[in-house]
Amino acid sequence: MLLPRLLKRFAIALVVSVLLMTFLAGPLNLPLWSWALVPLALSGVITFLYWRTFAGTVVCPTCNGSGKVQVHQGYGYEVEDDYCPSCDGEGRVPTDRG
Ligand SMILES: [Zn+2]
Repeated sequence: MLLPRLLKRFAIALVVSVLLMTFLAGPLNLPLWSWALVPLALSGVITFLYWRTFAGTVVCPTCNGSGKVQVHQGYGYEVEDDYCPSCDGEGRVPTDRG
């Protein structure tokens, strides 16, 4: 469960960093190597910080890590998936909670 999440964060951070570089590269006249180095370094730091926060959590006992709970509507004939209220859909909660 951990590695796909980290890869996803890394990919998002990488895309955002590259977009950021396209805005900054013109006015700041950045060298070519910074296009590869800065986004990678930035993504690495963001992923590391995310991992640090992730390491201090446990699997949510309410949804068992899925991030979703089944909500029974009316008399229970209709069942809908909803975001888990305990972890806000993250599937994990801080270890020091409770
Ligand atoms: Zn949950």
